[in-house]
Amino acid sequence: MRPVKLAIVVPCYNEEEALPISARSLLDILDRMTVDGLTTPDSYILCCNDGSRDNTWQVIEQLHAADNRVKGISLAHNRGHQYALLAGLKTAIDHCDAAVSIDADLQDDPEAIIEMVKAFNKGAEIVYGVRSSRETDTRFKRVTAHGFYRFQKMMGLDTVFDHADYRLMSNRALVLLSHYRESNLFLRGIIPQIGLTTANVTYSRARRVAGESKYPLSKMLSFSIDGITSFTARPIRFIFFLGLFLLVADIAVALYVLISYFIGHSDAGWPSLMLSVWFLGSLILIALGIVGEYISKIFVEVKGRPRFEIAESLLD
Ligand code: UDP
Ligand code: MG
Repeated sequence: MRPVKLAIVVPCYNEEEALPISARSLLDILDRMTVDGLTTPDSYILCCNDGSRDNTWQVIEQLHAADNRVKGISLAHNRGHQYALLAGLKTAIDHCDAAVSIDADLQDDPEAIIEMVKAFNKGAEIVYGVRSSRETDTRFKRVTAHGFYRFQKMMGLDTVFDHADYRLMSNRALVLLSHYRESNLFLRGIIPQIGLTTANVTYSRARRVAGESKYPLSKMLSFSIDGITSFTARPIRFIFFLGLFLLVADIAVALYVLISYFIGHSDAGWPSLMLSVWFLGSLILIALGIVGEYISKIFVEVKGRPRFEIAESLLD
């Protein structure tokens, strides 16, 4: 087995406290993997500074000066975790056989990288890090996070359960990823669409090594809504079917109104008002749903996602 030139891509936003600790652990893992012949000695860590307001970039410069296997890029301003990660993966594309993405706080057990590289050597092109337990997350974080996975699935967004952005991607998978040019980035949705051979590695999630979470509930909620609206038009279809359902319910309403009218239990004007409110309401929803169907077609076209990728061919 040939050693792998590995890039470990770490998005960093205000991580001056965590980064020195994390870099040391990651370098230690690289050292051990190099000794075991799993990775090449020039495998490296790529820190992507996401427009931090603290001294994260200075810390990266110091780490680079001390060991040039710690490399860095710095975004001009804060664009969010997904974009910082993409910037790193795109930078690594020409300089690695495989890239692992991991958060700077090392909440995702870095030891799993070793298993990921082994799975890559066995032929997996995408290796997902899957959390086997989240005991150290607060109960609130756990319940809301699981709720989001379920809600996303219900809305037709297929993601890997309990997998965040901790994963290994082969160079080929990185190239395929670069064919997705959309601006609303939700990597957890895109990567399962790439296809290729995948594997899972489980690990247990720990506490942050230092600093505090940059993902409060409000950010998680908007991240989840972004994910759903970047991948599926199912909510629009719900509107259409709700309209159809109400149109059927109109029959029952109409019966009730007419019976009340004929047995004299209704005031003047009430029957016509009731019938028109229900009937027009359902027509408006149906019309909105139809307009939405066209908008969802535009949405898919505008993304210009690759329509297929050829995995193997026998053409010679
Ligand atoms: N992060 C980033 N840009 C942001 C917010 C976060 O690059 O705008 C990075 C952050 O430095 C960390 C990762 O994304 O490496 C995950 O953030 P965090 O650990 O705060 O999220 P949590 O684990 O609490 O969901
Ligand atoms: Mg974290």
